[in-house]
Amino acid sequence: MKILAISDVHGEDNENLYKYLNNNDIDIVIITGDITNFGPLEFVDEFISKILDCDCEVMAVPGNCDPAGICKAIRESDAICLHNNILSFDNVVLFGYGGSNPTPFDTPGEIQDNKIYGDVYELLANYDFVANDEVPKVKILVTHAPPYNTGADLTESGDHVGSQGILKSIHEFQPQINICGHIHEAKSISKIGTTTDVANPGMLKDNGAVLIDIGEGSDYTINMISLDG
Ligand SMILES: [Zn+2]
Repeated sequence: MKILAISDVHGEDNENLYKYLNNNDIDIVIITGDITNFGPLEFVDEFISKILDCDCEVMAVPGNCDPAGICKAIRESDAICLHNNILSFDNVVLFGYGGSNPTPFDTPGEIQDNKIYGDVYELLANYDFVANDEVPKVKILVTHAPPYNTGADLTESGDHVGSQGILKSIHEFQPQINICGHIHEAKSISKIGTTTDVANPGMLKDNGAVLIDIGEGSDYTINMISLDG
């Protein structure tokens, strides 16, 4: 099964995405937030419909630059809203959490970092509590905000601005993958400890995307690709 992650659309379409999806066998497209640039919500359905037309499933979390009503708009476009949600299929488990820790820009989807920590902890803990560890799975945490102090949260000025709450939850539950976005210039795949690959595809208009190829059990590969490549 192949998953393509994209992020930070900010209302700007990219024809290379549809070309890529029509030429490659992708099962699921995951959008890690900031689909719009503070609205309009009508863009959500226009954009997601075009991806669905490429014969892929679509899942998304909201970003801090998406307005109120974004989760409803995602669901009404026939995509799955992963915000504060767990979804399991085949050998993959997805945990989703949108928004971001506070920014200097006072954007609509900001959440206090201790609340992010509590909510993400609960998502991961709930699964940990009920799941059978004997069954190998690829656990993927889908967030808009990147975890603090990684390749994914480094700004142009050299500051790490990611979420300490997400970092702490990753330390505690060690999902195999965290796909995120939010910091446009921090397009990267890096690692937390030895357990977790952290991938930020960057802005869609810059042609960044992360390809996750799920194998048997808990096997997978993860790679940064260029949609114009
Ligand atoms: Zn953002």
